[in-house]
Amino acid sequence: MELPDSETIPLRRDPLLPPEPCPVHWRRSARARRVSLRIDPVEGAVIVTLPNRTAKRHGLALLNEHAGWVMQRLGALAPERRFEPGTSVPIGGVEHRIRHDPGRRGSAFLEDGALVVTGDADFVPRRVRDFLRAEALRRIGVAARPHAEALGVTPRAIRLKDTKTRWGSCAPDRTLAFSWRLILAPDWVLDYVVAHEVAHLREMNHSDRFWSLVEARTPHRHKATEWLRRHGAALQRMG
Ligand SMILES: [Zn+2]
Repeated sequence: MELPDSETIPLRRDPLLPPEPCPVHWRRSARARRVSLRIDPVEGAVIVTLPNRTAKRHGLALLNEHAGWVMQRLGALAPERRFEPGTSVPIGGVEHRIRHDPGRRGSAFLEDGALVVTGDADFVPRRVRDFLRAEALRRIGVAARPHAEALGVTPRAIRLKDTKTRWGSCAPDRTLAFSWRLILAPDWVLDYVVAHEVAHLREMNHSDRFWSLVEARTPHRHKATEWLRRHGAALQRMG
């Protein structure tokens, strides 16, 4: 019975919510008497162990039955990070300490590897968030330009969203939308997501033609997809 080593499976923790990607590692064990689940905190994955002659579908059934528990445990692995003075925030994947300086002018800006936030302490988290959104929109715009030029396309508009399930999207009216949280990922990950959505302006599908356009623009696409699979949940738990 063929069993993949690892894969990402959509799990629905609640019937009212869309399924969420769940990294799963499959194991066979001659000694196991029944199917079991455990969380691997280092891998950030759920390990499903199957007795030698048990079909994969029994593992899937157990996973779905305990989806709430699995997703909750995996979500808890990425520490929640609030945008407060003294904590740090990754910008373009580089950690920046948040420094509250009520006496300074301007609302928030980068200085010497720190993110300086002015004004009332109560508004620091919101000002950090506003700064990150503006910076995300700016960097996404800069990243989109060379891809759009190379592919001979022009997006109608670029917008930001705070979606849990998608990093980017391309609407039929040629508007591209991105999660502002991409600013928290390394530049090359943001670049891949942007190139992917820009390529949809040429090919509104995931055909071989589409992937060869993306491949030509971002040879690092597999690495970027893998990065998002591993760290995406942590980015969702910041702010
Ligand atoms: Zn796509």
